[in-house]
Amino acid sequence: MENKKEMRQWLDNFGLDHPLVIGGPCSAETEEQVLKIADQLKDTDVTVYRAGIWKPRTRPGMFEGVGAIGLNWLKKVKQETGLLTATEVANKDHVKLAIENDVDILWIGARSTVSPFIVQEIADALKGTDKIILVKNPVNPDLALWLGGVERLYTADIKNLGLIHRGFSTYEKTKYRNIPEWQIAIEVKNRFSDLPMICDPSHIAGRRDLIFDISQAALDLNFDGLMIESHWDPDNAWSDAKQQVTPTRLVEIMKDLKVRKKTNEEEAYRHALNTLRAQIDVVDQTLLDTLGKRMNVAQEIGSLKLKNNVAVLQNKRWNEILGKMILEGQDRDLSEEFILRVFKAIHQESINKQEKILNS
Ligand code: PEP
Ligand code: MN
Repeated sequence: MENKKEMRQWLDNFGLDHPLVIGGPCSAETEEQVLKIADQLKDTDVTVYRAGIWKPRTRPGMFEGVGAIGLNWLKKVKQETGLLTATEVANKDHVKLAIENDVDILWIGARSTVSPFIVQEIADALKGTDKIILVKNPVNPDLALWLGGVERLYTADIKNLGLIHRGFSTYEKTKYRNIPEWQIAIEVKNRFSDLPMICDPSHIAGRRDLIFDISQAALDLNFDGLMIESHWDPDNAWSDAKQQVTPTRLVEIMKDLKVRKKTNEEEAYRHALNTLRAQIDVVDQTLLDTLGKRMNVAQEIGSLKLKNNVAVLQNKRWNEILGKMILEGQDRDLSEEFILRVFKAIHQESINKQEKILNS
């Protein structure tokens, strides 16, 4: 992994702005649709036009993409608008066709990143290419699979590599289609700090009204770009209809987003930041002390249960605690989702401690 420093430079080398904005439909449907949307996006912040040609659908029987014919449409987009083009590739034939047809950016989809066989096949087919290759996170929140995918491409000597965070599927019902799990993206960003990281708020959201907030969160976390699915008639899109926005809406979103500076060396800013960080450090320390105390009490309860031969898990009591904490959380402007996560984790740790005692 020597050519690290150069990796980030593809954004500059290709003359791409910060943030890089990739727009365009989930799927290429017809030549007219592809060209119409490209025309509507050409004088906006969008510099890369996306359209899925081969569509990985979780369930069979849905629209699976127009296939290779769509590559001609993307070529036309480039000729007529000057936008760079991007599409998903999922096997060596896709790679060959996309490169032959001069697609600029190839991305590996979330359902491909989960499979080392597929990623390796794609990496072998791409060996040494100058094309920009973006690796989406795997559908499931598995850090190692994402890292492994990137490593396979590094090893195949891909010069212009980047990452796309598109959220992770979950069995739990949440407001998102794919929960952001920002921590995983941040960890990958830290491991591969030389690689641009782009956020795909459309697939995280699954619904268009959440796209703005997710995009802002990504920019606040220093992401390098956004990939926003856009369609001239979103409601009638052949795939992902609920999460696509019109080009007009995309322009509004971009206008309202606050692009943060990477950092600011001004003395006043640094001083204020350091003061606040010192406060955070104190609060974190207090949090840890409090958690430690809670676990000590849980252990004492464990000993009591052992003496009296009582089961560790007491559902009624646990539900009372959760209900109370959710209400108290509301008073402190803490979301129910957050409270549930925190207290489930605390509860699990208490159970582990008590189980150890009961089985000692
Ligand atoms: C897409 O970008 O349309 C797509 C299929 O995305 P993902 O692989 O993230 O589901
Ligand atoms: Mn899509």
